[in-house]
Amino acid sequence: MRILLVNDDGIYAPGILEARSSLSRLGEVFVVAPERPRSAAGHAITLHKPLRIAQVSLPGGTGYAVSGTPTDCVALGYDVIMLSQCDLVVSGINAGANLGWDVTYSGTVSAAMEGAVLGIPSLAVSLVLKEERDAAPDYTLAAEITLWIAQKILENPLPAHTLLNVNVPQGVVRGLRYTFQGSREYEERVVERHDPSGRPYYWQAGVPRVNNTEAGSDVHVLEEGYVSVTPLQLDMTNHVLAEKMRGAAFWHYPDQSASGHSA
Ligand code: MN
Repeated sequence: MRILLVNDDGIYAPGILEARSSLSRLGEVFVVAPERPRSAAGHAITLHKPLRIAQVSLPGGTGYAVSGTPTDCVALGYDVIMLSQCDLVVSGINAGANLGWDVTYSGTVSAAMEGAVLGIPSLAVSLVLKEERDAAPDYTLAAEITLWIAQKILENPLPAHTLLNVNVPQGVVRGLRYTFQGSREYEERVVERHDPSGRPYYWQAGVPRVNNTEAGSDVHVLEEGYVSVTPLQLDMTNHVLAEKMRGAAFWHYPDQSASGHSA
């Protein structure tokens, strides 16, 4: 069993080491991670400059630090380091939840999406922090859950081009729930401040609104003290709407004759 383990918090983040020690019981783990933190990198890839891989010594063994994004780590880890021999992609364990629509910003989830693009069973695992400055988060349970789910999807593979997004609370949990993406809307998304010369600058962050949790969503079950597992798919198409638009006169754009539009 050959496992590609990546993250977006950087090669020296504690979460990836916890995941490695747990996944090592399953097989050979290749730790390939950004050389510096790249949270909220989304699914970005590096196209216009060269990428470097540096071997680094980590507690538990060698790691590969990549000068790019989390998705770059999957590409280089798979092609260069593992020579395309990879049974499982795990991304995490991220310091901080990845819920609802935030998965589109998430480097953690996007790296697992890249595993799904490659047709490899993939999961992303995130630890819910108790507060924004959670000094010493406890990854123990998240590492156990990572191993448990990895075993499950290897035994019983997911459909092609799907992945699991796993979020684990700290402390005692009530169990595990299979969920859907809740809505996560933020207030105070952009904060304006002023530098010493009086010019404005901006911080993006935001405070999640708490009054919008649908029962059974990822956001909701975590509030109830459960681990959340959301199956995600690469196909973001709204198939119901696409079908409606095809049948609606309002959306009808007349077909052009071949002669009328040929160059
Ligand atoms: Mn992160």
